[in-house]
Amino acid sequence: MIAVETRTYRLGEYHPFEGGGRQFLYLVPAGAIFEMDTAVSTVIDAFNDGEVTHEQLVESLMEREFLYDDASELIGELFLTRIILASNAGSDASSASQEPLDPPPANFPLQSLVMNLTNQCNLSCQYCYEFGEDKVATPDGKPKFMDLETAKASVNFLLAQSSGRKAVHITFFGGETLMNFPLLKQVVTYANEQASAQGRSIDFSLTTNATLLTPAIIEFLSDNRIGVTVSMDGPPELHDQLRVFANGRGSYDVIAPRVKALIQGHRTRPITARVTLTNGVTDVVRIYRHLKDELGFHEIGFAPVTTSPDRLYAINELGMHGVLEQFHVLAEEYLEYALRGEMHGFTNVSDTIAELYQGVNKSHPCGAGLGLVGVGPSGDIAPCHRFVDSDTHSLGNIATGIDREKQSDFLERGHIHAKYDCHSCWARPLCAGGCHHEAFVRYGDTGHPNLHYCDWIRDWTDTCLRIFGAISAQNPEFLEKFAERKAL
Ligand code: SF4
Ligand code: SF4
Repeated sequence: MIAVETRTYRLGEYHPFEGGGRQFLYLVPAGAIFEMDTAVSTVIDAFNDGEVTHEQLVESLMEREFLYDDASELIGELFLTRIILASNAGSDASSASQEPLDPPPANFPLQSLVMNLTNQCNLSCQYCYEFGEDKVATPDGKPKFMDLETAKASVNFLLAQSSGRKAVHITFFGGETLMNFPLLKQVVTYANEQASAQGRSIDFSLTTNATLLTPAIIEFLSDNRIGVTVSMDGPPELHDQLRVFANGRGSYDVIAPRVKALIQGHRTRPITARVTLTNGVTDVVRIYRHLKDELGFHEIGFAPVTTSPDRLYAINELGMHGVLEQFHVLAEEYLEYALRGEMHGFTNVSDTIAELYQGVNKSHPCGAGLGLVGVGPSGDIAPCHRFVDSDTHSLGNIATGIDREKQSDFLERGHIHAKYDCHSCWARPLCAGGCHHEAFVRYGDTGHPNLHYCDWIRDWTDTCLRIFGAISAQNPEFLEKFAERKAL
């Protein structure tokens, strides 16, 4: 290490943004947000012509009436937070812009298990990743419905593999989850018994197409505080384009009354809609208004369909640009709500705000294969629900345990270190290369970065940063309330 006074500095890696009339820096190696005041911007301006020495930086600050000691102290702080880096010294120069993120430990404790109760579905949505043209599942010869023994073994597996965690999570999934509702009920009882015997708790949620909801099911979900996400794509003329029964009939008329009953009858958790955007179903604002104002969903999240670009329902570049513009409209609305102290239901903003609040800096895009696994009806373990029943992606079986070799191969390939294209991208603390499943569908490799949407991701991340900055400048209490509500 060399003496501070003889250091030469260069700028670190950050993304500047403005929010609520204030200037901020998003510090990429740390995934942290730093407010830029006059002193910090004086230091940054000093780099206009390239590298600068410690003494030159001190002088720039003294010209702004800083005392020598205060200037040195500020430079030291900026060095520690990696806004400026040493560029002329052996180990100090290890301050390359890439902050090494440790690989996760081999025995990283599980947090969530997605239990695919069945691989059968009573709808034939044309874009479905489980049944459509891009499917990775190989269900032939495997059970169609999970049995109680496999479900119990999955619960035991989750509890055994999550030691140290007081609370864990089970998400019920399908196929259509409610086609195996009798098993779901048994699992809730069993899992609660097992967890409470260990002084722990399990939180439950499910995803459903809502076609099979009945008053009795709604009562059970409410009584057991089970979170519900409904897959729904908007008003009938949009929803019915691809969410159809086997005979091609749209499912809107069947699900709308059931959704209303669910929202009215489920008293213990907010109800979320999950919208899949496809070619021709990109009118985000209209979909949001319908689901929020006409049906009464509490929260609505949107995701463009995961598919090869040549499918008819894939969204092209122009379509994605339109989606982004509409996301901006809802994002502005989100900000207006937040400044009034009100919650808005657009989860694409709230999920990112939650990550920014926590200073997330991801080694992997999501928990798949790490804190989360999916289990199929056969008991096969997959990185997440989207890989369930796929022989290529199996990580073992619930009866024999997780195959650590396969798991580490999946995680090593998905680690941000292995994604060289992402190393110079400022959005990587949140994106980390994007969904493994999408990467496989697009590039044939779960570890490939999703380079087809980088500009989109960076624009959207910048938008969320600006909203975060504006809220923290103008109504910081909202963020405290938000964090409390989301238990961050
Ligand atoms: S996939 Fe693209 S946007 Fe995401 S981290 Fe990599 S380079 Fe950045
Ligand atoms: S791999 Fe993709 S679908 Fe699976 S949990 Fe991660 S982001 Fe979600």
